[in-house]
Amino acid sequence: MTAFTAYCACDAHGPLLPKMFQRRALRADDVLIEIAYCGVCHSDVHQVNNDWNNTTFPCVPGHEIVGHVAAVGPEVTRHKVGDRVAVGCFVDSCGQCESCLQGQEQHCTGGVTATYNGKDRVSGENTLGGYADKIVVREKFVLHVPDALDLKYASPLLCAGITVWTPMRENGVGKGTKLAVVGLGGLGHMGVKLAVALGAEVTVITTSPSKADDALALGAHKVLLSTDRKSMMASLNAFDFILDTIPKRHDVNPYLMLLGRNGVLVVVGAIEPLEPVHGGLLIRNNRRLAGSLIGGLPATQELLCFCAERQLLPQCELIDIGSVNDAYARMQANDVKYRFVIDMASLRESAAA
Ligand code: NAP
Ligand code: ZN
Repeated sequence: MTAFTAYCACDAHGPLLPKMFQRRALRADDVLIEIAYCGVCHSDVHQVNNDWNNTTFPCVPGHEIVGHVAAVGPEVTRHKVGDRVAVGCFVDSCGQCESCLQGQEQHCTGGVTATYNGKDRVSGENTLGGYADKIVVREKFVLHVPDALDLKYASPLLCAGITVWTPMRENGVGKGTKLAVVGLGGLGHMGVKLAVALGAEVTVITTSPSKADDALALGAHKVLLSTDRKSMMASLNAFDFILDTIPKRHDVNPYLMLLGRNGVLVVVGAIEPLEPVHGGLLIRNNRRLAGSLIGGLPATQELLCFCAERQLLPQCELIDIGSVNDAYARMQANDVKYRFVIDMASLRESAAA
């Protein structure tokens, strides 16, 4: 067993506080990782608030993990001590179902094992995530971070990045695709950067007038204020693909109206009921409403390499772990530009003090 320090919530809405835990002794195909950075996803806030009624406490969030290999089990072949590695939203799956065999482990029919608030497939224990100095993960679920990718900026790719990358790739987003991103937050800003890199014509649809300049600086070609009915109406039928990252229940109809013929609106943000959808809006223009869940291991590795080659980096606000509760409050107040990333050196320093 390996002792480790982590920030955990002991009950719903509870503050995140430091606590000691144990990671399992390395199994034959396990890797021990010293975590360098961990991104703060809005899903972490939902989980700590028990918004989805499925959180087991104590809960150690964190599924945007990067660091270095510190030890390996005897059968590990893909990683060695010192390697720069990453772990995303899941740490195990059955490995045998059609989804797993197709590299779509997130859809494992036996139930994917989430990086935190999941159930370890061997011991049945609650999994504990990356707001920690160490983590133990099966080697298959540990990705390589290319040398060209600065570790400081790599962590948001593991969830925010892959969640927007997957539906774009699966829907053939490329040169000339007329694409809109709804919500300029952690997921949304990666959506803009990646869509621009793929050659799309990108519009940001935001509730925040103050983000217009940022949207353009991130590479968007146009900005629409969703509260400005006139400019929304001027964009009817304008898009092939809309990525909706709004993190709560909302009305998708005003966005559906913006899809042209055979256009698709992909919901990635609201993991909860939506307002009723108007069938007429779907039927006109053969519009499609879809969803998408993170992405599989091969796609995540592809994304890490794509971003390394192009030096396409998330916009991060680095924080000490002691500021994580403020970061949660700011995220809920829509005050993040555009991803908080915890520098885990601050956890080691506070544990040593
Ligand atoms: P975030 O950084 O807080 O960004 C969300 C953005 O949505 C905000 O910046 C804001 O952009 C907009 N927004 C917030 N409240 C809104 C409201 N009431 N109405 C309209 N727009 C609103 O969050 P995130 O980390 O990107 O995560 C977004 C959601 O995706 C979360 O619910 C998370 O759980 C979910 N998620 C899903 C997956 C998946 O696999 N599908 C993976 C990761 C995360 P503007 O200021 O531009 O309006
Ligand atoms: Zn996430």
